[in-house]
Amino acid sequence: MGQLRYDRVLLKLSGEVFGGGSFGVDPDVVQNIASQIADIVRAGTQVAIVVGGGNYFRGGELSERGMDRARSDYMGMLGTVMNCLALQDFLEKQGIDTRVQTAITMGQVAEPYIPRRATRHLEKGRVVIFGAGVGMPFFSTDTASAQRALEIGAQVLLMAKAVDGVYDDDPRTNPEAKRFERVSYQEVLRRGLKVADATAFSLCMDNRLPIIVFNLLEDGNIARAVNGDTIGTLVSN
Ligand code: UDP
Repeated sequence: MGQLRYDRVLLKLSGEVFGGGSFGVDPDVVQNIASQIADIVRAGTQVAIVVGGGNYFRGGELSERGMDRARSDYMGMLGTVMNCLALQDFLEKQGIDTRVQTAITMGQVAEPYIPRRATRHLEKGRVVIFGAGVGMPFFSTDTASAQRALEIGAQVLLMAKAVDGVYDDDPRTNPEAKRFERVSYQEVLRRGLKVADATAFSLCMDNRLPIIVFNLLEDGNIARAVNGDTIGTLVSN
């Protein structure tokens, strides 16, 4: 493995990937993600993670079907915690010390979110997984990942998705759509490109936090992103 470009990263994993396309957790997928993460931890990168919950519930979708929005958002946040526990389990099977910290206190399953304790864990080579988003309805795990990245001093936000970057149009419907290798924050805004939701994106832009969007399902991609290889799309100044 080459020279590591980033010492401390915040990795955002979408819940959709955890479910392998369906409801719940697909252990084979989580095992594969855990082994990719273990590789970069062993190589010396400090890794904090925010996991989404789209494989369980999205508050917005439940509220469209008649549920109270705040209550369904809390269900969404609880879903993210199940993903955190699954990932913690597979990381520890790889011999990587891992702590889960949740934005909603649940002492039996995880530590509460304590930023200074989180950075201490990272310094000791432990992975920290942040669950329950920012703990508030009407927010997303994208926003949680930007906020946590900034608070713990990560150098980059790695957005690992089921797509391989940011395109100028939807590649599922337009075969001519082109992927950006690099794009500036301003260009993302001007073209209305979808990188993260608006709150998350403006947090990154205002604080000059670079974002790399890449495909999680291609083996070795997390290491490539950490090494600074050209991969997916880099969003920066
Ligand atoms: N959520 C929330 N506040 C947060 C983070 C998440 O209310 O700070 C809820 C929201 O309902 C969201 C769901 O949890 O739809 C799952 O998170 P998200 O949709 O961000 O997961 P992803 O799409 O990344 O899998």
